[in-house]
Amino acid sequence: MIFGKVKGQETAAKALVGMLKTDRIPSAMLFCGMAGIGKTRMAVEFAKTLLCRQRPKADNPACSACSDCLAVDKGLHPDLTLVNARYQATLLDEDEAKQKTLRVDTLRRLRKDMEMRSLTGGWKIAVVENAHTLEIEAANALLKILEEPTPHSLWILASSERERLPRTVVSRCFCVTFKPLASAIVREILQAQGIAPARAERLAELGDGSASRALELASSDYPDSLTAGPMAFLEAVDALPREGYLARSQVETALFALAQDLRLKHLNGQRSFESVERPLAEISHLRQALRSNADPKTVLTLGCLAAQSLP
Ligand SMILES: [Zn+2]
Repeated sequence: MIFGKVKGQETAAKALVGMLKTDRIPSAMLFCGMAGIGKTRMAVEFAKTLLCRQRPKADNPACSACSDCLAVDKGLHPDLTLVNARYQATLLDEDEAKQKTLRVDTLRRLRKDMEMRSLTGGWKIAVVENAHTLEIEAANALLKILEEPTPHSLWILASSERERLPRTVVSRCFCVTFKPLASAIVREILQAQGIAPARAERLAELGDGSASRALELASSDYPDSLTAGPMAFLEAVDALPREGYLARSQVETALFALAQDLRLKHLNGQRSFESVERPLAEISHLRQALRSNADPKTVLTLGCLAAQSLP
């Protein structure tokens, strides 16, 4: 099946196959839906299909054997650019972990690149991950590009926070919505990465429809290390990395795990709605505070205390 490599996104796949069949490819698309459910993967598969020159019919899948397909698989196709923190870091010669927003310089460079003729005579495609991190000036630059699209250029924006994108940009894009993944699919993805079935099942529950969240939790011992006893979390707070940006992303994962653990305990009947309602609201405030640069250690401490509190 075409796009079968992207699990659990049949509706989105159907919309894309429809475009291929009718040969009506919009010049800009927005793939939206929560993080870790296959948006970027689908964007790259779609790009690969357009770039493959060994497809007898418009709705045939990419052959996965020609030089174009192989180049896409290796991330080396000259007409496909994956725009993310790594791309920007290389472009600006900076540290990848520090690329929190997409900047106007990156967009200017991309614009030049996208306006050049395709090296293979076909499409020029840019896939922009986390498009909601565009700075205002960068979003304006993108808007100008989308208003005057060059022929055979395709922009695919992927975002888990569509509401943070300027409306003017969203209105220029054809939106394709991606759904949260079924727990069984997340479990399958985790098991394919070598995670034992019982652990995969628990992580899939905690991941709440997102494979990347579940994988993040797999590489940490959250939420168990935070909820093992009244003082257990102090060790976890102490073990946070010194670098602020690393600590922040770790605390973000911890808060997600704490909130999800509370929700599951409520669903399993271990805690009443009244006993999880307030801690969940507090954790949600703490996530916002973390984004506005609150101290990660303080945020994690308060999050763990909130999760333990009973009405
Ligand atoms: Zn091919």
